[in-house]
Amino acid sequence: MLKYQKTEVREQTAEKKATWYCQLISFFVFCLLISVTCGCQNRQVYKVNRVLMGTFVEVASSDKGAADIVFKEIARIERLLSKYVPESEISRLNKNGAVNASPETLYILDKAKEFCRLSEGAFDVTVAPLVDLWGFTDKQYRLPQEAQILQARKFVGSENMILLRENNVVKLRSLGVKIDLGAIAKGYAVDCAVGKLREAGVKNCLIAAGGQIYCLGSNSGKPWKIAIRSCQGKGLAGYLKLKDQAVSTSGGYEQYFVVKDKYYSHIIDPRTGYPASSGIASVTVVASDGLTADALSTAIYVLGKEKGMLLAAKFPAVEVKIMDNQ
Ligand code: AMP
Ligand code: MG
Repeated sequence: MLKYQKTEVREQTAEKKATWYCQLISFFVFCLLISVTCGCQNRQVYKVNRVLMGTFVEVASSDKGAADIVFKEIARIERLLSKYVPESEISRLNKNGAVNASPETLYILDKAKEFCRLSEGAFDVTVAPLVDLWGFTDKQYRLPQEAQILQARKFVGSENMILLRENNVVKLRSLGVKIDLGAIAKGYAVDCAVGKLREAGVKNCLIAAGGQIYCLGSNSGKPWKIAIRSCQGKGLAGYLKLKDQAVSTSGGYEQYFVVKDKYYSHIIDPRTGYPASSGIASVTVVASDGLTADALSTAIYVLGKEKGMLLAAKFPAVEVKIMDNQ
């Protein structure tokens, strides 16, 4: 009924990547495993995978047409917002320092600015020059010199991104300022896909795009069951049972490199210029929309437990689960 083969490959890869944390810590971590069970024996759930936005996107629904709707919409957002797509609005902005922006691009950049303000700079999409410098864009990982970090930090700061809403234009304060929406765009893309599913009358669907999940409606009348798997042994850390909610997990294990036994993760603290090291192994945020969950999980990962929970308290409807890095 369900095709699990690709899922297993992805999970094994995630497990392999997580090994370094597993060796260091002794509690439950990350690896979200989607548990799709069909309450009604006769009802078929279609489950399909595709690589989009640099990650596996999985769709499970009893509606056969759901996956195509989701993939089409996420591909559209990728073409609009990805810094890896040369013709995207974000790539053109990064290259030229200004772009005629669609209302969607203005909306997401506006949201990004708001999360930057709320997190006091821990979440900042102008972190791109630092992401590049550490080699996380071209996957040529390297330890930069202090002087290079100082130089790159000059371009970081959301005030360097100017939104001229009345003209539908975005400007960057100088060439060298760059935008990376990696911490917010997948959550937004999932929200857009859910919007398209609703328009098409699809009532039940689970979307998992890397660390971003959305549970639309129910699974044969029951909430969707998301298992949080322990990477210690084979146990599960627990389940989330969700209906019409988004989940986002941020963790250093997703992408990292090691130099002299020190781990450097892809989530950078824009305030220091170094990979975040706030003592958190992973953060899972449940919210009513994917964009909020996505931005918050990254921000909390950078801020650490105490300040992260203070930020989360500003969003009464969200739930946060933090796995410490001990
Ligand atoms: P996520 O997996 O949602 O936590 O997003 C991580 C990705 O967002 C990284 O791979 C970078 O592309 C980008 N990023 C890294 N650090 C930050 C930060 N402090 N604020 C915003 N985006 C970031
Ligand atoms: Mg994020």
